Amino acid sequence: MKIPEKIRTYCPYCRKHTVHKVKVYKKGKTRSTAAGQMRHELKTKGYTSKIAGKVMVYKQAKKPTLLLTCSVCGKKHYKVVNSRTKKPIELEKVS
Ligand SMILES: [Zn+2]
Repeated sequence: MKIPEKIRTYCPYCRKHTVHKVKVYKKGKTRSTAAGQMRHELKTKGYTSKIAGKVMVYKQAKKPTLLLTCSVCGKKHYKVVNSRTKKPIELEKVS
């Protein structure tokens, strides 16, 4: 999937369309000692078949998330691309 390096899109802070710098967002590591994570692991472990919160269907491709930086105010916000892709995202240069 190819995405241009700069896109003109809505900025919720400026409340209008501005040019944004695009970066591909990657989720960081989750702490296994965090209270919510420990509770989730306790709930999902064991032999029982169906548990709330346990992923039953594994999707083959993921929806990429973009980290957009506004060129006017410099604030960042996220945008989920509404299509699944198996291939890594390439940022295209636009002259
Ligand atoms: Zn802005």
